[in-house]
Amino acid sequence: MLVAVRIAIGLALTFVGLALVAWRGSFLFRLVANGKPAPGRMTKVGAQVKAELMDVFGQRKLLRRTVPGLAHFFTFWGFIVLLLTIIEAYGDLFDKTFAIPGIGHWKFIGFLEDFFATAVLVALITFAIIRIRQNPAREQRRSRFYGSHTATAWQTLGLIFLVIATLLIYRGAQINTGDFPYGDTWWTFASKLVSMALKPLGYTANTHIETIFILAQIGVIWAFFVFVLHSKHLHIFVSEPNVLFSRRPNALGPLGTTPDLDPEKMTEDTVFGTGLISHLTWKQRLDLISCTECGRCQDQCPAWNTDKPLSPKLVIMDLREHLFGSASELLGGGELPGDGVAAKPLVPDVIEPDVLWSCTTCGACVDQCPVDIEHVDTIVDMRRYEVLMEARFPTEAGLMLRNVENQGDPWGLGSSQRLVWTQGLEFEVPVVTDTIPDDVEYLFWVGCAGALDERARKTTQTIARLLHRAGIQFAVLGPKESCTGDPARRLGNEYLYQEQAQKNIETLNSAGVKKVVASCPHCFNSLSREYPALGGNFEVFHHTQLLEKLLTEGVLKPETRIDSTVTYHDPCYLGRHNAVYDEPRGVLNHVPGVQLTEMHRCKNKGFCCGAGGARMWLEERIGTRINVNRTDEALGTGADVISTACPYCLIMLDDATKARQAEGSAPESVKVVDVAQVLEQSLTGATSPPDPAPAT
Ligand code: SF4
Ligand code: SF4
Repeated sequence: MLVAVRIAIGLALTFVGLALVAWRGSFLFRLVANGKPAPGRMTKVGAQVKAELMDVFGQRKLLRRTVPGLAHFFTFWGFIVLLLTIIEAYGDLFDKTFAIPGIGHWKFIGFLEDFFATAVLVALITFAIIRIRQNPAREQRRSRFYGSHTATAWQTLGLIFLVIATLLIYRGAQINTGDFPYGDTWWTFASKLVSMALKPLGYTANTHIETIFILAQIGVIWAFFVFVLHSKHLHIFVSEPNVLFSRRPNALGPLGTTPDLDPEKMTEDTVFGTGLISHLTWKQRLDLISCTECGRCQDQCPAWNTDKPLSPKLVIMDLREHLFGSASELLGGGELPGDGVAAKPLVPDVIEPDVLWSCTTCGACVDQCPVDIEHVDTIVDMRRYEVLMEARFPTEAGLMLRNVENQGDPWGLGSSQRLVWTQGLEFEVPVVTDTIPDDVEYLFWVGCAGALDERARKTTQTIARLLHRAGIQFAVLGPKESCTGDPARRLGNEYLYQEQAQKNIETLNSAGVKKVVASCPHCFNSLSREYPALGGNFEVFHHTQLLEKLLTEGVLKPETRIDSTVTYHDPCYLGRHNAVYDEPRGVLNHVPGVQLTEMHRCKNKGFCCGAGGARMWLEERIGTRINVNRTDEALGTGADVISTACPYCLIMLDDATKARQAEGSAPESVKVVDVAQVLEQSLTGATSPPDPAPAT
């Protein structure tokens, strides 16, 4: 082929490809940039860069599943290394003897290129096998690809195969024509094998093959870029910024902020939460177009796994489809038409109410998502709109909200009940009436469940006795303690949350509190991660953190053997939301005789008990019960004791254990306790695992 023709075809393919990529890229950029502001996205630069290095370049989250993780790792790095071959292909268009200046004849570079080309081919076969084995048509809801665009996935695999195939063929031909920058060597083993297959065709044929397949390679690469920008594989380009702008590189922690709730700053245009597609922030829009439809979130979701209609993947996909469907209106400029697609209310037109209210905010989806999509924030934002703008929420939630508002606790028992748990203790628990005394180190934040629920009170008493035994000076707020507002916030009532939070912060600040120990992970999360945004800055510990420290320092010395097999259930708001996994296990490991046995779904893969996201106060009408699902797993370990570190988890697991015991499918001897109770048993020499009080 004439050199000029070859160059003309190559450049024509490039210009067409570039134009299509630029057109689509500019559309996507405008669509994302058109979203509402998302403040605080680059406030932890060091941690965010670390997340980028670990999650994007190190593929940390993907490697949690070894086989698909390795396949994706080599594909990702293959794309990066093989960028060199694109330079070489363009160089060859103009000059057959082209080599990348400086490195172009270095055989190790040639080896790397061939190694990654081969690795990508192996990865493609792996992906194909995974997709065939987890075929959603056969596996239905149990396949993580259920609901994903599987045809597009196969097309993408096909295009990647063509990229590698055209690459190896032109390189093989180059070896035979003498144009290969790395020469005829086994360093470039894959290209060498292809060259051996092509050699019998002769020099002239190889010259034509080289040219045709270089042009094919250029054409396929641009076709791939254009295809990617129109498909779910868009993540190839947008997952990097999505991870970088993630608000929580280390653990989930606090929810996103909401517009100022100060009534004086409100106008009739003020919108709370997300009710229309135009209310999404640019980060939420970036989230939507970053989704790879891999289904890792769906696979871990407790709602999806108990046959509820909520799949975090489908929420993202449905919102993305609606975003693209509304794009021309959103980008049209001026007022949005009142009867257009973008005017559709997200709930119920795009997201079913049962989907929205099924979420326990456990954070498994966010934790699993390889591209750091923040499903929980978007779900809570939609709940905020439903609650604050439309006054629509499950009826039973209304009672809980009224109780918090009027009595300061979700049960509506009132402040007079907050010190009942101290009755019967063999020592006085100081109650802060004014300021916290100088000799008191910790404010013990008891929490609503810890103060008011019969079973949780037992744990509260245990913790108090353990702190007393360790010589820790602590005090409680008693009637001045009020609900942190966590259930109201997770339900979407941000207004009530902020009222509660401000009241508590004022109480704590005026009492001069600096250090807090909390037994409830929800309180722990609110006090340590969410109150700082409203002016509450305290050093907050969960009781398992403090107990583990006291054990490590030798202040507490458990000596009596507890010959029990104990399994530990990770509370979502202690584990995934705050990355406290080791300390509760550390407490158990300090107890002589205890054999800790892990459930399959543990630590960051821990399965919710079903109480989070204010679900504790909502009926579970659809599918099977989450707490029973989790308890069955715990019972399946054969443990004598199911331990946890959260009063709500304790109640949920205890209810399910008792239900299983009542139907005869669980041994009567199995107990559900807090890890603190196991420790106390060893310290006091009690002879059997502590028995929580009967259900109220
Ligand atoms: S937070 Fe938990 S319950 Fe909610 S969508 Fe994510 S995984 Fe499902
Ligand atoms: S949201 Fe994340 S985990 Fe879920 S399917 Fe999309 S990319 Fe995968």
